[in-house]
Formats: sequence, C-alpha cells, structure tokens
Amino acid sequence: MSLVLFNDLTRKKETFTPIKPGHVSFYSCGPTVYDFFHIGNARPFIVFDVLRRWLEHEGYKVTFVQNFTDIDDKMIHRAHREGITVPELAEKFIAEYNKDADALGIRRPDVAPRATEHIPEIIATIERIIANGHAYESNGDVYFDIQSWPKYGSLCKQNLEDLEAGARVEPGEGKRDPLDFALWKAEKTGEPSWESPWGKGRPGWHIECSAMSSKYLGDNIDIHSGGVDLMFPHHENEAAQSEAASGSGKPFVNYWLHNGFLLIDSEKMAKSLGNFVTARDALKRYPPLAIRFFMLSAHYRSPINFSHESLEQSAAGVERLRNCRSDLDFAAKTRNGSSDFDVSKYRSQLDELHTKFTEAMNDDFNTAAALGVLFDVVYLINTSLKENETLPEDFFTLSKNALDEYDSILGVIGSDDAETENDDESAEIERLIQERAEARKAKNFARSDEIRDSLKSRGIVLEDTPQGTKWKREL
Ligand code: AMP
Ligand code: ZN
Repeated sequence: MSLVLFNDLTRKKETFTPIKPGHVSFYSCGPTVYDFFHIGNARPFIVFDVLRRWLEHEGYKVTFVQNFTDIDDKMIHRAHREGITVPELAEKFIAEYNKDADALGIRRPDVAPRATEHIPEIIATIERIIANGHAYESNGDVYFDIQSWPKYGSLCKQNLEDLEAGARVEPGEGKRDPLDFALWKAEKTGEPSWESPWGKGRPGWHIECSAMSSKYLGDNIDIHSGGVDLMFPHHENEAAQSEAASGSGKPFVNYWLHNGFLLIDSEKMAKSLGNFVTARDALKRYPPLAIRFFMLSAHYRSPINFSHESLEQSAAGVERLRNCRSDLDFAAKTRNGSSDFDVSKYRSQLDELHTKFTEAMNDDFNTAAALGVLFDVVYLINTSLKENETLPEDFFTLSKNALDEYDSILGVIGSDDAETENDDESAEIERLIQERAEARKAKNFARSDEIRDSLKSRGIVLEDTPQGTKWKREL
C-alpha cells in the first residue's frame, strides 16, 4: 500500500517515489505579505500541512520550505498607502501570518525564506539562465526568452501558439516575444531596489521561488505545491527558469500538486474580487478546529464552498469528535475495571479501520475519506462505552492511541484539555466541581448554580452523569 499522488505534470495518479529514499523535499508557494491572508489562501496552507504530516507519519524525513513574497507591486503600493517602508510592511504581515497559521494548527515550515534576503542567490540564478542562453537583458530589465524554451507550456498543457494569443507587450517593455516574462525589473523611482549586473532593480515574482527552492532543496525536488491559479504562469515560469538555470536536463519538480479553489457564493474567493473573509475574521467567528475540519472535509483538488452553514456543520463534527475523547477520558477514570469485554475483537476492528484510514490517505491524501474513517472509529468507541458498564484498561489505551494517531495527522480534535492543559487550573476546576456537588447535596442551589455559571463564563461546561460530573472546554 504505497502513496499515490495526482501529478499535474502528467495529469495522472502516480506512485510516489522520492529522489532520495526516506527523504522528501517539499516546496510550497507561500503568501505575499501585504495584508492578512484570507480563508481561500488558508486552503493550501492547511491541506499541504496535512500531506507533510502524513509523509512524516509514514516515516519520511520531510524538508518543507514555504517562502514569503516580501517584494512585489502589491507590497510597494500597500506600503506607500500606509506611509511605511516595504520591509516594515513585510515584518508586520509575516508576524500576522504566523499568528493566524499557528491558530489554525499549521506547522511552521522547516525553512521560511524571504525573497529580499536572497537577492544574491536570485541574481546568480538569473546569471546562469543568461549564460545558458535562455534570458536576455533589455534596458536594465532581464527577460526569460520563451522562444529558446520549447518545453514551455508543458505543465499547463497549452502550446505556445495558444499562449501567445493571450499575451501582449505593455508599453515600455523591451521584450522580444509577448510571452517573455521578467526575471529582473529595472529600478523605478520611489521603489526599493538592489544593485545588480544590469543596474539597480528588483527581482520579478517567479524567480524567487526558483532561487530559494534550489538553495534549500536542490535542482530536482520531490513535491511542489500551491493553489491551482499558480499553475500558470507562476509554476510554468518557475519550471522554465529552474531547468534553464541548472542545465542538468533533470526536471525541476517530480510531483506538482495543486489545490482547488475555495469558493464563496460559487465564485473564487479573491482579494481582487473583494469577496474575501480573512482568516483573522473567520477565527473570531468559528473555532480553529472547525475551519481545519471544513478544509479537510473535501478532497483537496475539488472546489469547496465557504458558507456559514458549512462552518456550523464542521463545528458540530468537531464537537462530536471532542465529546468522544472527553467521554473516553471520563470513563477511563470512572469505569475502568474488570469486564468481559472482548479486547482482541475490538483490536481487530480498530486494525481494520486503521487499514482503511491508511488507504484513504495513500490515495492522493483523501482527507474527506480519512475523516469518514475517524467517525467510524468514534462510532465504535461510543458504542462500546454505551454497551459496557465497565471496560478494561486495554480498551482505553487502544482507543486513545487511535484518536491520538489520527489527530496527529488531521489536527481536528485538539489537545486533551483535562490532561494537557495547565494542571493548576484543572485542579481548581475539579475542586469547584467537588464544592458544587457538596452544595447540591446540602440543597444550596444558589451556590451550585453560581459555581456552574462562573465556570461557564470561563468557557468551561459541566455535564452531570450517573458516574459524576464531567467538564470540558467550549470550542
Ligand atoms: P497569494 O498570496 O495570492 O500568492 O496566495 C497564496 C496561496 O493561496 C496560493 O497557493 C494561491 O494559489 C492560494 N489561493 C488563493 N486564492 C485561493 C482560493 N480562493 N482558493 C484556494 N486557494 C487559493
Ligand atoms: Zn512560488
């Protein structure tokens, strides 16, 4: 049972074979840090984080690189509008990106390189492309020479004639061909610039990913990902640049993966369309786990529609998973004992579900199917809890391990509050629950209600059961 990925280079599902056994080099295009990122941008960050976790779960050593685009037209315009410098703007929104990404449970990359910190590498890459005969200088700009690159269009599956039909030369551009794209842009007044062999200027957008991926991952990498809108021109151009620079004849990337769009009212969510919800705002309205759950509830290549209803449904799904975990923890404390429960049958039922989970994740990381299996596990746990007064230690260990394992990949259940949160706080809650039980016994309902309400105002909900009072944190 090996991992199969849909490779956009061949438009086929292919068995994943890494270049170096046991290792995966993985580059994901990151955000342009001119503003808060929106919930559509969050989709690639979340789904490819899950693929990274899955690869690690399967024993690969993954080097995951995701860049910050910290210089481009949008950065320059926004900094100008705010009356701050481009580096100040970048600093601010890199910090904001990290805040939201952390809240969404997106693991930080191994390397998060910034374009402006790699100008020498970018210049060296451009020099190699020129030396290999695939780029030329024109009035301080440097352009990639499309006519010298017959493979152009092989990722987006379009031929040069069709692509030429949609391209045009803007006034002031010294291109030989309308499809030629800028590797280096000559300085314009008031814009940040760096010294280069072609005079002062700044890098084009695409070249940063070629220069930084080759610095950290080499000239031939395993996986490169991003949203489907990046396939053309960004990834097509990256591939042309990287292969033209290396001159090795090896492909830049072995597996190209692209996520489908997140839609709102059936339209792509985009800054330019003004129909976006920032991750920051979504996080004020919905629990982070619900947002992750929502993203993983569809296959990453399918479009997914963002709506209040779908987020509410996702929140209900998360609630069900978390209730299972807290019921399990509570039962482990109150109903752990001798029992005629058939542990070996239970173990084989869990094993069967484990196989199904693995099959789902190995099938182009089908997180929707994997979530389905997680719900089957929850159903099995809930049914066992319902049907048995007491359960043996092994039942609890097996069940907790199963939930922990699946959650280490999907990240939709969250930490086990009672055990991992601040111990002092847990002890205080337990003490208040005890005091409330005594107040109730003494028919002092004013005090017992007061305790319940004060815990509620701290986001702690109590549930009375025949075995005692359970508590959990509200989502
Ligand atoms: P950007 O900052 O615009 O370069 O976008 C960052 C990432 O978000 C890229 O991988 C884009 O392809 C992706 N992206 C942008 N809009 C959407 C959307 N509506 N749905 C899914 N992915 C998107
Ligand atoms: Zn890129």
